[in-house]
Amino acid sequence: MPAVGRVATRRTAGHGAAGHVALTFDDGPDPASTPDFLAALDALGVRATFFVLGSMLERSPDLGRELVRRGHEVGVHGWHHRRPLYPRPGRDLAELRAAAAAVTEVCGVRPRWYRPPYGVLSSGLAAAAHRLGLRTVLWTACGRDWTAHASPDSVYRSLRPGLRGGATVLLHDSDCTSAPGSWRSALGALPALADRCAALGLALGPLRDHGLAA
Ligand SMILES: [Zn+2]
Repeated sequence: MPAVGRVATRRTAGHGAAGHVALTFDDGPDPASTPDFLAALDALGVRATFFVLGSMLERSPDLGRELVRRGHEVGVHGWHHRRPLYPRPGRDLAELRAAAAAVTEVCGVRPRWYRPPYGVLSSGLAAAAHRLGLRTVLWTACGRDWTAHASPDSVYRSLRPGLRGGATVLLHDSDCTSAPGSWRSALGALPALADRCAALGLALGPLRDHGLAA
């Protein structure tokens, strides 16, 4: 979703290793769309990091397990997709803890990464993530795939200037917080994205391969 009020430091932006581009998806898992991403990524031979919502994972636990089974990585995007309008440190910690626990219990892997909804890292969310041992990672390139006007070509064109070594790409594998059907634009941009990275000699993969310090 749009990076309104986003405050990215060099550490949180997701600048990684020089020969690597991290591919990340937010807002799933969604039975209406995530399976198409899994199929497309298999066809491209690319693994990615999925920042899931606890509320979505609770509804589709099998799909959460499928992410891991296919070799993808699962990060935490929160429980609900809230914009932090005012500090609620107690609730922030409780919800983030529940979401991280859901990933561990459902997917069988302990999450390492956290990305707050809208890229807005309030002090309460930052403290909660730190307490839970989650490293916050935002993004350096986004496809603007969440709008009704997006197309596979517009998503690729939005990403292209930012495709360089160390980039972290943000796309969405669900439209649960976006324009209905907008995920198809992200999905359709994947082959061109993979081709471009290959042409530049850059590996495209999950955050675990991005060379970020803990
Ligand atoms: Zn989101």
